[in-house]
Amino acid sequence: MKIELYNSLSKKKEEFVPIQKNKVGMYTCGPTVYDYPHIGNLLAYTIWDVLKKFLLSQGYKVTHIMNFTDVGHLTSDADEGEDKLEKAGRSTGRSAWEIAEFFIKVFKNNLYQLNIAEPTKFLRATDTVEEQIAFTKILWDKGFLYKTKDGLYFDTSKIDNYGKLANLDKVEQQEGARVTKNPEKKNLTDFAVWKYSPEDKKRDMEWDSPWGLGFPGWHLECSVMSQMTLGDTFDIHTGGMDLMTVHHPNEMAGSEAVTGKQQANYWMHNAYVKLDGGKMSKSKGTYVKLEDIKEKGFSTKAFRLLVLQNHYRKSLNFSWQSIEAANKALHNIVREISFYEKPKGNCDKFSDEFYSALADDLNTAKALAVIQKILDADCSDSAKLNTIFKIDEILGLDLESLRDRALELSSEIKIILDKRVEARKAKDWKESDRLRDKLTALGVEVQDTSEGQRAVQVKL
Ligand SMILES: [Zn+2]
Repeated sequence: MKIELYNSLSKKKEEFVPIQKNKVGMYTCGPTVYDYPHIGNLLAYTIWDVLKKFLLSQGYKVTHIMNFTDVGHLTSDADEGEDKLEKAGRSTGRSAWEIAEFFIKVFKNNLYQLNIAEPTKFLRATDTVEEQIAFTKILWDKGFLYKTKDGLYFDTSKIDNYGKLANLDKVEQQEGARVTKNPEKKNLTDFAVWKYSPEDKKRDMEWDSPWGLGFPGWHLECSVMSQMTLGDTFDIHTGGMDLMTVHHPNEMAGSEAVTGKQQANYWMHNAYVKLDGGKMSKSKGTYVKLEDIKEKGFSTKAFRLLVLQNHYRKSLNFSWQSIEAANKALHNIVREISFYEKPKGNCDKFSDEFYSALADDLNTAKALAVIQKILDADCSDSAKLNTIFKIDEILGLDLESLRDRALELSSEIKIILDKRVEARKAKDWKESDRLRDKLTALGVEVQDTSEGQRAVQVKL
């Protein structure tokens, strides 16, 4: 199948042609593990999970790499301020190492709850410091770096077309981004590759290097890890649009300076999540995490559904009404398929429609709409089920196990159901209706079919 993806480098949709036949190398910028991920972060990993599963469904062997930034990400994009992990550690009385351990666990748990497959390999920045130092040596020897009082900086004027991803000149003019207090920086866009530890306090995370005690800058790790695992040039690089102005241009510059080649052929970026139309902000309390969604009684898979209802290059407007509607939509799908008998056969034409939608730059909304078309179709119930379960391997809504759960009934409910069978045998319709009402109150729906009654209790 011809697959078209929007490439941020060429700024258009392009046919996807991998470097090696039937193989895809894919790199996703992972989280900075100093806090709970917010739903904007999780939207990205959901989208790239769909991309990966779609490519797998098309017969590609996918090697997917993701990093954990556990050192070197400073509070300001201009390489100033404090290391986010050291700061989080200090304010909670824990070490930066403990902070990293804790939030890596939280992140992996969030992935699990959203049915996001783990990458082929997770790499921590702190596990690759030796490789990052070796990479920095090459940059130094090639003349891309210069020293300042607080570290080694990359001279971005030495790279042709730096910032090509985001038309950086324009972005800077518009946003006045990256105001720097460091007068030693030669260009506004130069970035730290190695930072020295401060003289007045001891960091939890620091290493010896040929340039002195310190730690690697944030942007270096992805250049190094992607080269270690996927080679000089790989197929797809993914990340959030927020990375297009600073992190990705820097990552790209580091890689190109060392290898002389383009780091990745396709660069894909997802848009933001807005909260009630505005920006999510921690300080204003307008910040939603997966745990909040669960606390309000909504399914994490409903969040996944909400993400898929939207195209990844358009921002998603999250509100409690929208997650409630998604939860209801998921409930309705599970309810309907739970009344179907066993999966068998298929509704082929719908699977073609499904895969074609994803092949068109991941049109997940169109792909998702195929479920309703299958539910309304003229195939047998069992064929519908089979096709829905198949496409859900990519959508990841967990429909098969949610259906199993809906059909699992407690002994208390089974007793009422048996009584209702007896009442109907005795033609006691009044009692049968009373028992049905009782079941409804427990969230159980009963349908009477030629093969007897079928009871479903959706539990998302
Ligand atoms: Zn990165």
